[in-house]
Amino acid sequence: MEQQRHLIDKLNYGGSLSREEWILLIEGRCEELAQYLFSLAREKCQEHYGRDIYIRGLIEFTNYCRNDCLYCGIRRSSRKIRRYRLTKEQILSCCRSGYELGFRTFVLQGGEDGAFNDEEMAALITSIRKSYPDCAITLSIGEKDRESYQAFFDAGADRYLLRHETANPGHYARLHPPGQTLKHRKQCLFNLKDIGYQVGTGFMVGSPYQTTADLAEDLLFIQNLNPQMVGIGPFIPHHDTPFASAPAGTLELTLFMLGLLRLMLPKLLLPATTALGTIHPRGRELGILAGANVVMPNLSPADVRKDYALYDNKLCTAAESAECRKDLERRMEAIQYRVVTDRGDSLNHSAQVTPAIN
Ligand code: SAH
Repeated sequence: MEQQRHLIDKLNYGGSLSREEWILLIEGRCEELAQYLFSLAREKCQEHYGRDIYIRGLIEFTNYCRNDCLYCGIRRSSRKIRRYRLTKEQILSCCRSGYELGFRTFVLQGGEDGAFNDEEMAALITSIRKSYPDCAITLSIGEKDRESYQAFFDAGADRYLLRHETANPGHYARLHPPGQTLKHRKQCLFNLKDIGYQVGTGFMVGSPYQTTADLAEDLLFIQNLNPQMVGIGPFIPHHDTPFASAPAGTLELTLFMLGLLRLMLPKLLLPATTALGTIHPRGRELGILAGANVVMPNLSPADVRKDYALYDNKLCTAAESAECRKDLERRMEAIQYRVVTDRGDSLNHSAQVTPAIN
């Protein structure tokens, strides 16, 4: 364990690890080492962000999807789910109630739904931007052309979440149908960054066929991309996908990866995700205690929430009422953190490309 402890110290002092060192560290983990990692990760996070927890209002506005990711419950081949898309008015109404509850970031997430074409999306973003000039608008709608990303940015979107899912092309190919490639996904991420978005990427922990070497690749890729946000959560099987009987990712490994990410990129915005809250009743609190500093409660209308079923038993981290918002506050206070009403921009400005001014 001495060797692993030394690697954690190296990370903590700003050093970077090689592929072999990442593997050694992840494979050699134990409870005591994890506690050591988490204490340093909390310290690092508090140096930059104090004990503030940022909240993002998640609006799952469509579950139609043209893609067929093998792990995902809303994939094109899922025939049994009820498909829905929210109207522009419904989405704006989610923003309105979210704003009243103190949300200053709206995350529009959905499947790759052709009905929301570039004009529709740009018009939607423009409306939200006009009504809420003080809020951040985050998009999470998958792979698009550079021109589309540019149009959304020009309409007022600030941030974009696009998990790379796995940085190993062979592994990527086992999780996706042939038409979907890691190369294209990565190109999208670099385009987004180049346009000037604050970018978030990420991966599932414990996805089918994932090896420790794959996780090492993920960390190396993330270090190279240097994003403002990284979303990770355990893989959880969905009963109507090819991975229905695959085992879920563990709480233990997900927390360890959160700690490593915090030390590797200290200024990251790192959510304790819904998937983490789904596999353990205190998953999100434990995520924060491992180095996370963001939570993303759901602002989608209650009647569609169960239809955005990426995986089984997905926690409906509701925030539609002041009561739920209070519950979140209490949970954070119980671990000596506080929910703040603030856009919560990344402190990692160096990672941003300065837009050209003419
Ligand atoms: N269409 C958008 C949003 C995808 S859903 C996009 O392509 O980015 C958001 C994330 O949920 C995905 O990136 C994936 O990492 C995660 N996800 C999907 N299925 C999952 C599952 N079965 N278990 C855990 N996470 C899952």
